[in-house]
Amino acid sequence: MKISKITAWQVDLPLHEGDYKWSGGKSVAVFDSTVVRIETDSGIHGAGEVCPLGPVYLPSYAGGVRAGILELGPHLLGENPLHLDQLNKTMDSAMKGHPYVKSAIDMACWDILGKAAGLPVSSLLGGAYGEDFVLYRAISQESPEAMAENVASYKSEGYRRFQLKVGGDPDLDIERIHQVAARLGPGDKLVADANTGWLKHEAMRVVRAVSDVDVYIEQPCLRYEDCLSIRRNVTHPFILDEVIDGIPEILRASHDLAMDVVNIKISKFGGLTRARQARDLCMSLGVAMTLEDTWGGDIVTAAISHLAHSTPEEFLFSATDFNSYVTKPIAHGAPQRKDGRMASSADPGLGIDPIMEVLGDPVLEIG
Ligand code: MG
Repeated sequence: MKISKITAWQVDLPLHEGDYKWSGGKSVAVFDSTVVRIETDSGIHGAGEVCPLGPVYLPSYAGGVRAGILELGPHLLGENPLHLDQLNKTMDSAMKGHPYVKSAIDMACWDILGKAAGLPVSSLLGGAYGEDFVLYRAISQESPEAMAENVASYKSEGYRRFQLKVGGDPDLDIERIHQVAARLGPGDKLVADANTGWLKHEAMRVVRAVSDVDVYIEQPCLRYEDCLSIRRNVTHPFILDEVIDGIPEILRASHDLAMDVVNIKISKFGGLTRARQARDLCMSLGVAMTLEDTWGGDIVTAAISHLAHSTPEEFLFSATDFNSYVTKPIAHGAPQRKDGRMASSADPGLGIDPIMEVLGDPVLEIG
């Protein structure tokens, strides 16, 4: 089988809540997502998607996805989409770095592999565990009162795990954590995600002030070493995210005992191939995971669902259902959350079919 054509569409994804805010005053109102279709000489085609969290969260941006695919695409024509390790090697030979550019291409090839095998991607990733898997809800940064209300509201919809966007004014963040914790009960899990927003002295003040609260502390500071110094001074369970973007970083953090949970975002690692490698390594190291992506719609959510569903329950801290945050469906067959949980499709490949009327005209065609 050979790749014969690569097509990409740009799609705007507005949010039910209007906008999404996190540390340092950063926010996004409409997400700029890219959908990729890879066609083959056998007639099978696959779909992928990548959606950066705006241009200032990671070194990635939506326009860069399209520019990168335009650069990379011609190198992939004639390549076998079923040979995913070889395909990733080809991508790395043609373009150094830029994992997010490669993510939607890799994802679309997993869709093709599943369709060719007649199996859901979850089976190819090791097999689905149980009926469904657990989700978390990200709580956009607002006043402590508004965040507590939002948590209560999402809890009534079935979510039991909540990730508070803190990393702002430390005094307000202390109040945010206390007010939200007061709304939670046994079985609920609370994460305070600073998204690199605190300096070390601010992080230390916050963690000391919430020392009696059952809360996970996530990515308090920008640098790995600063996160490690906070980690060594607290008893809260500790999560790393932004500083972990490859296998060497996971090994280093494991060696340093720097994290109890890690966030594996598919596009941060460059696609499902590398995210699976990271997931399997974390299981060997005894590190639980949140499996997700930077953002996305139905296709990213479907890819997350296959990765999460094929991860043993004890290692899956949570996963994300981005398609319930955004207002616009972009694919038929996408998984839907129910009572704070989700199941991957049993159909071959990712189990989704892009809605062409929503995507409109393509922004680039290669081949
Ligand atoms: Mg995070």
